[in-house]
Amino acid sequence: MHDDREDDTMTDNPRAEDEVVRLCQDLIGIDTSNYGDGSGPGERKAAEYVMSELTEVGLDPELIESEPGRASVVVRIEGEDSSRGALVVHGHLDVVPANAADWQVDPFAAELKDDCIWGRGAVDMKDMDAMILACVRELARSGKKPPRDLIIGMLADEEAGGLKGSHWLVDHRPELFEGATEAISEVGGYSVTFEGTSGEQRAYLLQTAEKGIAWLRLVAHGRAGHGSVPNDENAVVRLAQAIARIDAHVWPREYIASVRQLLDGLAELTGITYADDDLSPLLTKLGGARGFVEGTLQDTANFTMLDSGYKHNVIPQGASASLDCRFLPGHEDDLMATIRELAGEFVDVEVVHRDIALDAPFDAPIVEQMKAALLAEDPEAAVLPYCLSGGTDNKALQQLGITGYGFAPLRLPADLDFAPMFHGIDERVPVESLKFGTRVLSRFLANS
Ligand SMILES: [Zn+2]
Repeated sequence: MHDDREDDTMTDNPRAEDEVVRLCQDLIGIDTSNYGDGSGPGERKAAEYVMSELTEVGLDPELIESEPGRASVVVRIEGEDSSRGALVVHGHLDVVPANAADWQVDPFAAELKDDCIWGRGAVDMKDMDAMILACVRELARSGKKPPRDLIIGMLADEEAGGLKGSHWLVDHRPELFEGATEAISEVGGYSVTFEGTSGEQRAYLLQTAEKGIAWLRLVAHGRAGHGSVPNDENAVVRLAQAIARIDAHVWPREYIASVRQLLDGLAELTGITYADDDLSPLLTKLGGARGFVEGTLQDTANFTMLDSGYKHNVIPQGASASLDCRFLPGHEDDLMATIRELAGEFVDVEVVHRDIALDAPFDAPIVEQMKAALLAEDPEAAVLPYCLSGGTDNKALQQLGITGYGFAPLRLPADLDFAPMFHGIDERVPVESLKFGTRVLSRFLANS
C-alpha cells in the first residue's frame, strides 16, 4: 500500500491535520444539544456549516431534513473502483445537553486550554466529525480518487436513537447508501495505556460489536382504594416486587468473540492470566474504559424511572417503571422472555424502544486496513477488538446490510481518563490526539 500524503506538502493546500482543530472548534461552537423531546436547537446550523465546508472544495453534498431543523448532510465521493462496495464514513452532529454550571469552561465556547479543545462534543463526536471533514477536504482538493466510493454522512439525532437521523434516512432515503457494504464511525479506535510485559503498552480498542437496546416500561395493575384500608392487590407493591426480582436476577455471563479476543489480547500483553469468573485483575488495567467492557460480559437491566400515584392517602390502580436493558448479540428473545417471567402476572412489559445488536468480524480486510493505518502512526501499539455496551448509528445502517465498525482513531495521553468524558462534564480532546487521528484516518481512506 503506498502513501501519497507527502505530495500535498508540495502545494499550498492545507493538510487535513492543519484544519482539523479549526473544524472541531467551529462545530463545538454550534450548539446542537439534543434533549430527546424535540426542544433543542436542532442540527440545521451545523449541517449548513458542513455544507459550506464541503462545497468550498468542490463537492456536491445534500442537506436533508427529516423535519424542520433536524438536518443531516450526505455526500458521495466517487472512487477508483465503483464496482467495489462503498464505504460509509459517518458522524453525528447532535450532542447531549451540557449543564454549564458544572463545567470549568463554557461548554460551547470550544476553548483551547492545556493543549486540549474543550466543549460538549469534543469526544462525542465533533472530534471525529472534524477529522472526517478535514480528510475529505484534503482528498477533494488533491483531486485524487479514493480506492472505492465513499459516502460521507453527518447525521442528526443519534443521541435520541437516530429516529430523525440515521433511521429516518435508512427508511426514507435508502438510495443515499446504495452499494455500501461497510461503515466506520464512533466509538472505537482510541488508545488505552497500561503496564505491559515489556513496559508501558498502548492498545487501540477497535469496536467490532454493539449490544442491542431494549427500553421497556413495566406497568403494574392493581385495585385502587382508600389508603387506610388493607389492600393485597396494591399496584405499587406489585411493581416494587417485580423490580426487586429483576434487579436480583444474575444474568449469565457469555463471552462473545470480540470480548474474548479483547480479554485474551489483554492477558497476553500484560502477562496476567484470568479466570472467567474473576476478571478484576485484568480489567483494572483498562482504567476508565473498564466500565465499557464490564457492560459487555452479560445482558444488563437497569431501572431508571418510576411513576405512580397522585395522593398520599389514595392507593393507585397502576404503577410504572422504566427499564433500560442492553443485550448481547443473539440474546434479545431470551432477555425479553426472562424479563416477562420475572415481571410476573400482574405486571405488563411494554417495549418503548428497541434496536438490534451488532457483531462484525475482527478477521476482515477492512480491519486489517484500520490496523495498518494505526500502526503506521504508532508502530509499537497493539490493536484489539471490543464490544460497545451502548449503541451508534451503525445499527440503522445494518438494516441496509452495511457492516459497521467503531473507528474514530485517537492516540490519547496515558493519564487522560477518556471513557467517562462521553456525556460527562469537562469533555475535551487533546489537540495532538486529534491531529494523530486525522493522519490515521487520512491513511485509512487513501488505502481502503
Ligand atoms: Zn456519539
